Amino acid sequence: MSATEKTTDGALLLRALRQLTPAMGLLTEIGELFGTAGHEVALVGGPVRDAFLGRPSTDLDLTTSARPEEIEQVLTGWADTTWDVGRAFGTIGARRGRDTLEITTYRADAYDGETRKPVVAFGTSLEEDLVRRDFRVNAMALRLPDLTFVDPHGGLGDLAGQRLRTPHEPEVSFADDPLRMLRAARFAAQLGFRPTTDVLEAMTDMADRISIVSAERVRDELVKLVLAPDPRAGLEILVTTGLADHVLPELPALRLEVDEHHRHKDVYEHSLIVLEQAIGLEDEPGEREDDPDRVPGPDLVLRLAALLHDIGKPPTRRFEPGGGVSFHHHEVVGAKMTRARLRALRFDKETVRAVTRLVELHLRFHGYGSGEWTDAAVRRYVTDAGPLLGRLHKLTRSDCTTRNRRKAARLSASYDHLEERIERLREEEELNAVRPELDGHQIGAILGIPPGPQLGRAYQHLLAVRLDQGPLGEDGARAELLRWWAEQETPGG
Ligand code: ATP
Ligand code: MG
Repeated sequence: MSATEKTTDGALLLRALRQLTPAMGLLTEIGELFGTAGHEVALVGGPVRDAFLGRPSTDLDLTTSARPEEIEQVLTGWADTTWDVGRAFGTIGARRGRDTLEITTYRADAYDGETRKPVVAFGTSLEEDLVRRDFRVNAMALRLPDLTFVDPHGGLGDLAGQRLRTPHEPEVSFADDPLRMLRAARFAAQLGFRPTTDVLEAMTDMADRISIVSAERVRDELVKLVLAPDPRAGLEILVTTGLADHVLPELPALRLEVDEHHRHKDVYEHSLIVLEQAIGLEDEPGEREDDPDRVPGPDLVLRLAALLHDIGKPPTRRFEPGGGVSFHHHEVVGAKMTRARLRALRFDKETVRAVTRLVELHLRFHGYGSGEWTDAAVRRYVTDAGPLLGRLHKLTRSDCTTRNRRKAARLSASYDHLEERIERLREEEELNAVRPELDGHQIGAILGIPPGPQLGRAYQHLLAVRLDQGPLGEDGARAELLRWWAEQETPGG
């Protein structure tokens, strides 16, 4: 390494340490605890990478020479609680106050060449642990408490160049754990990094190996990818390498939508744009806080629905006599396909139901035209969407990728109109839901009068009081009713 590189690294390291300042007290304590007990410990992977990126890190991952039982011993008395994240994998979780950490014994894992099940072996050195990590940018560590920076694979250079490379040959790495291929796509979406050409080639050659990975692990990576700032970057990698053919085949299938007039070749591109537009409509923190239809970002359900809303198109495509093309009921077929795919990926019931419903409803707004729905139709729209209404608003608005500005403006104005009508109906219906605190029977009994116009006026009076003054309670309402009645009875009044 040249002298200039050293200074650059030094400056970067200083910045990273500054980023870690809030955790530094804790990290120093941990370092001293383990050191005193005769063990090595280091901050490793994600938090080190994120510190260099100036990005807040979600978790504090540590690696140590101590075995799991020893980790627990060292932490006893210091941590409020500790738990097993996966003893077989050597990970212990710990919490002290508001801080949580995960500490993993150095690993030197090998894989059973036949079944591909990971065979966990504990390692003896930090370097050995780092080499088995997924990417060079994730294979950097900071020893504690002295903060020695350990980067045997040039992770910092890759980080500066926004590159994703495996510590060893990608073929070896991906054979050991094919999930790493999905992680490459995920980091592209999350961090804007690019896998290098050889990494992409290995991913393409080995894409089918992803099928040995459990659906749950695949799902977790897909979720992180979809929730990232730039899902398109990750999704395009999945599609071009062929990984998507195994984990989300409905997505590459959208590309096959080439009709003879090339009018529908863009369902894939359309879907990515709809996803990006939906992301653009997510509500930011602090924005529209009191809106019941608020959708704070990043929202997994909205994003999945945007990505999948048209997957029913390929199987429903018909070339009509006369040259047209149609996709009858693609929303119904798409909803079924969505349910099947999300179930196969072991998504929870609630997510499956919500995304499926949105796909099914994504076309409902079409036919609204310039507002010729009856109030009942508007009410039905709201009821059918239920708690998904806010997301349906955003999905429908996003699902317009025409380059014809006037058409786009018309659609958007027409949706504004629908939202206004929903708002108005809601207000009216809330008003309608307000009742006087005494019903007709009670009023009749209190005043000793039969049903009729007099009783009607009494009812209207109590309703007006209820609206003006809010609830008075039954006794208060009775007193008010009698007061009003006495006024009515005044001779000459
Ligand atoms: P984030 O937590 O922000 O999602 P991360 O990089 O911390 O990102 P984790 O899944 O928490 O990702 O993994 C922690 C670290 O463990 C990674 O930085 C990497 O060093 C290592 N790692 C995780 N999964 C693998 C894997 N499949 N193969 C090799 N190393 C891995
Ligand atoms: Mg992490």
